[in-house]
Amino acid sequence: MSAVQEMTAAVLHGKEDIRIERVPVPEPAAGEIVIKVGAALTCGTDLKVYRRGYHAKMLVPPALFGHELAGTVHAVGEDVTKFALGDRVVALNSAPCDACFYCERKQPNLCDDIIFNNGAYAEFIRIPARIVEKNTLAIADGVPFEHAALTEPLACVVRGLDECEAAIETRPGDTVAVIGAGPIGLMFMHTAQIAGYRVIAVVKRDEQIAAAKTFGAAEVVQTTQVEDAVAAVRALTPNGRGVDVAIEAVATPATWEWAVDMVRKGGVVNFFGGCAAGTKVELDTNRLHYNDIKLLASFHHTPTTARKAFALVTGGKFKCAEYITGRARLTELDSVFRKLMSRTNDIKTAILP
Ligand SMILES: [Zn+2]
Ligand SMILES: [Zn+2]
Repeated sequence: MSAVQEMTAAVLHGKEDIRIERVPVPEPAAGEIVIKVGAALTCGTDLKVYRRGYHAKMLVPPALFGHELAGTVHAVGEDVTKFALGDRVVALNSAPCDACFYCERKQPNLCDDIIFNNGAYAEFIRIPARIVEKNTLAIADGVPFEHAALTEPLACVVRGLDECEAAIETRPGDTVAVIGAGPIGLMFMHTAQIAGYRVIAVVKRDEQIAAAKTFGAAEVVQTTQVEDAVAAVRALTPNGRGVDVAIEAVATPATWEWAVDMVRKGGVVNFFGGCAAGTKVELDTNRLHYNDIKLLASFHHTPTTARKAFALVTGGKFKCAEYITGRARLTELDSVFRKLMSRTNDIKTAILP
């Protein structure tokens, strides 16, 4: 028997405390695979976890973390038939049970028994059997790992837009306002533009204007340059009637309220940004009711939207490369997060073990 193999991995010990450690290389149990990480991407959720030192649903420190990854299959457990050693794959960060109350009602994103997986900031990561079965996809040779790893966040965005389209009848050329130009806001802009909508981006900082345009915004409203962002957005719609779809991707109560104020009657709002616990918003009940406004708040992804996102990421139309604004070694992870905290222009950094 050989000694236990070790690998380098980032371990989150608590608030703003990442340590690069030597830990055992995971071994796959039945149904599981172990992926040699090709690229892991930084994400707003990881930044939140780094700042707070924990995540209510996803992890309790000390823990391996990071959840957007792609790589090659390094080991397979018993009974794994879908994948073989050397396959290039992207594995999502969760998978539903398909048996609970919510899964049965086609709401697998709310699965009561959902499995989350973390540990992408490492040389190797173990993928639980259920994720292997339901949310791991084979990548064609020409697709870089760092592009394929965009599948997870994009799966949430695709679901957010799908829900809007299910709520009202939309047409090509309809106006979609996206408030916020972080990675998620920029993905909404691009996804909406590819779907044929006219995108109005609502951004804060100068550098976000160029990013919004890169990802398909036809018009950009910079909040620091206008007195009233809602009026500025409305002024860009026919007769000032408001946008057909408003997506909130900042995660503050104020921008949630803006989203409602800028949508047309019969339009749809998606409160996509999850605000801090305990926060509340004030909404005009009269306007909501008599204007028949649809309010949505989409959370997470499903195996179906994961596949849609994967098709976008690998289909050639989606500007994957433009989302990867930096690359760093695993050993530099702590400084990458410190930099992200100071609000740089980085969209996503690819962490390469
Ligand atoms: Zn993420
Ligand atoms: Zn379930």
